[in-house]
Amino acid sequence: MISEKMMEFVKNSSAIRAMFEEGKRMAELHGPENVYDFSLGNPSVLPPEEVNKALLKVIHEEDPNLVHGYMNNSGYEDVRRKIAYSINDKFGTSFDEKNIIMTVGAAGGLNVIFKSLLNPGDEVITFAPFFGEYRSYVGNYDGKLIVVAPNTTDFQPNLSELEQKITKKTKAVIINSPNNPTGVVYSERTILDLAQILYKKQEEYNTTIYLISDEPYRELVYDGVEVPYLTKYYKNTIVGYSWSKSLSLPGERIGYLVIPKEVDDYDNLISAANVATRILGFVNAPSLMQRAVAYCLDAKIDVEIYNRNRELLYNSLLSYGYECVKPQGAFYLFIKSLEEDDQAFARAAKKHNILIVPGSSFGCQGYCRIAYCVDYQMIERALPGFKKLAKEYHK
Ligand code: PLP
Repeated sequence: MISEKMMEFVKNSSAIRAMFEEGKRMAELHGPENVYDFSLGNPSVLPPEEVNKALLKVIHEEDPNLVHGYMNNSGYEDVRRKIAYSINDKFGTSFDEKNIIMTVGAAGGLNVIFKSLLNPGDEVITFAPFFGEYRSYVGNYDGKLIVVAPNTTDFQPNLSELEQKITKKTKAVIINSPNNPTGVVYSERTILDLAQILYKKQEEYNTTIYLISDEPYRELVYDGVEVPYLTKYYKNTIVGYSWSKSLSLPGERIGYLVIPKEVDDYDNLISAANVATRILGFVNAPSLMQRAVAYCLDAKIDVEIYNRNRELLYNSLLSYGYECVKPQGAFYLFIKSLEEDDQAFARAAKKHNILIVPGSSFGCQGYCRIAYCVDYQMIERALPGFKKLAKEYHK
């Protein structure tokens, strides 16, 4: 028999798996070109050419023992140094290799940091809507995820509710901007106010509250919007980054954590993250990818491809009567479902062969997520279905 805890995880993950299976079944039935799967956040834009070149360069020009061998659990020092200097160039920070831990994607980084920080019963606060896996990552270490209700006006975090929800047991607050599922970028005003609340509460309870910034979508922004670099606003910030979306490499599992030397208990935290990387069984982030991304720190995917999708989908859906906050980043659109029950609405969309994810999977009922990291032509083919769906509700 499997563990009771895993029973729960298995039960809760079945909805997404069911959707995946359903998509496959529908494609067989109607033909793949007639099924419009907007359910997955799998990048559709190709990785930039620099990635292939870097991989070949590493394989052909670097020492194979170095490329394929074990290393420090935190990752190659020269790679970490390059990353630190690149962050410094971009954001005016002053990191070095001792502040960087290479991770197995953002997911690996978040697990390393929660393993390092959480005692059973410690609380981690997040803002709805949020990436549903946070519940599992915090649960892995017997922490408790506390959810602040959504602010559906503009999907900036509800900071007054945050203030009420912080307790002596609050170990961390985790935010994600650009956000999955809304595409909203948290403004500098939001970050300044958030930092002020965290400083005030740390003093009130005489505790440390870490701010974890989960940033796999940092590079995917539109209209020249700026994403504030959080270590500059709040001393106890830890950044989790990944190249899954920024270079379209989700299967390669590569990312990093930034742990600034200013954070409370820095020496222990760095040691803990190093050991956590080892004992969680990662041992280290994939070595070939570590070496390759070091050559790609200025490489970019063509964000304009996502931008075209965003404009087409957003403008069309609005003209059909849907409501949605225009996303400034990531590749998601979070529409208000046309009936209160978002699961029923997703089922109604399925009748038009449109697969979208109910907002309740992200802690926000009454909405649905549309992932537009898909072919432009697929969106064009799906639009008549979205239009008919809206008409059914607006009769
Ligand atoms: N955090 C957020 C908000 C995400 O949307 C995702 C993936 O979709 C992850 C973390 C995990 O990213 P990775 O593939 O780098 O582990």
